[in-house]
Amino acid sequence: MDNWLEALPKADLHLHLDGCVKPSTLLELAADRGYPLPADSEEDLLPYMQVDADCDSLKTYLEKFGFVLPLLQDAAALSRVAEETVAQSAARNCLYIEVRFAPALHMDAGLTPGDAIAAVLEGLKRGEAAYGVVARLIVICMRHHDDGINVPVIHAAVALRDQGVAAVDLAGDEASHPAAQFRATFAVAREAGIPITIHAGEAAGPYNIREAVEELGATRIGHGIRLREDPELLAWIRERRIPLEMCPTSNIQTRAVADWDDYPIRAYYDAGLYVTVNTDNPTVSGTDMTRECETLSTRFGFTPAELTGLMRGALLAAFAEPPVKERLLARFDELAGRLMTDVSRED
Ligand SMILES: [Zn+2]
Repeated sequence: MDNWLEALPKADLHLHLDGCVKPSTLLELAADRGYPLPADSEEDLLPYMQVDADCDSLKTYLEKFGFVLPLLQDAAALSRVAEETVAQSAARNCLYIEVRFAPALHMDAGLTPGDAIAAVLEGLKRGEAAYGVVARLIVICMRHHDDGINVPVIHAAVALRDQGVAAVDLAGDEASHPAAQFRATFAVAREAGIPITIHAGEAAGPYNIREAVEELGATRIGHGIRLREDPELLAWIRERRIPLEMCPTSNIQTRAVADWDDYPIRAYYDAGLYVTVNTDNPTVSGTDMTRECETLSTRFGFTPAELTGLMRGALLAAFAEPPVKERLLARFDELAGRLMTDVSRED
């Protein structure tokens, strides 16, 4: 089964650039820039970048991003980390990834939102060429930023749409900044016709999920864990076939649920919700797509056929251009078909 999980062609729709930085890369970026780090080996640096088993809150989790951000303030660093994100995903047999980042968090040294987006796109393109993974970018607006920051970010995303920006997103402190504050920002995105996904129902209640869809125009939801608190909304999301970008390991670590027994992915799947499984932050969470699939298999009894269906569903939910999606689906069906034949032979 382990080899099968590794070989399964995959799609990761929820993957943060600043959650993917390798310790070895951070050491090199720091050395090149004369930036002091509190450790000088990968092993000693990792605890600053990755939560441990007893991560007790979203706050502890988010501190890991603050640690790497000072070194992701120039174009060379951004494009390097983007390329390496593609390489790491390729190593887990991802056919397709959507990498996301918030340009406004990378402007301390003078980059504009457009500069930061262009740098990440360049790295993703290098990665696509080198590793054969299709990579698209989701540009994030932050909940603690106002329209004065977020609207230019949306404009920059829209301007680079034909270069690989596939969608826009909203992330950050969900409890303090409800979706309604961002109507104007996302009206700009809707008018431009760029797809929208919103982090909602992770650290705040289900009303945020409803607002993300109804008020902001989200067609996918990041996490959506707390949907079960509102059965009527759950049915509404199911009927609309709105995909949930669930990130099991991360959701446990940030305490979006108490523990694995309480994690609703099997219940959501069985209830007919459109579930996808994603990594969120491979370095911060110490995970990858194969491990997430393994968790679904071992903890929640997902069969090979079900996991294959989840990955195909993720490709169908992708924000990539329709002809690219068609090619990806054809390739997926060929690879997955071959794999399922091997599995049934082993039985
Ligand atoms: Zn996220």
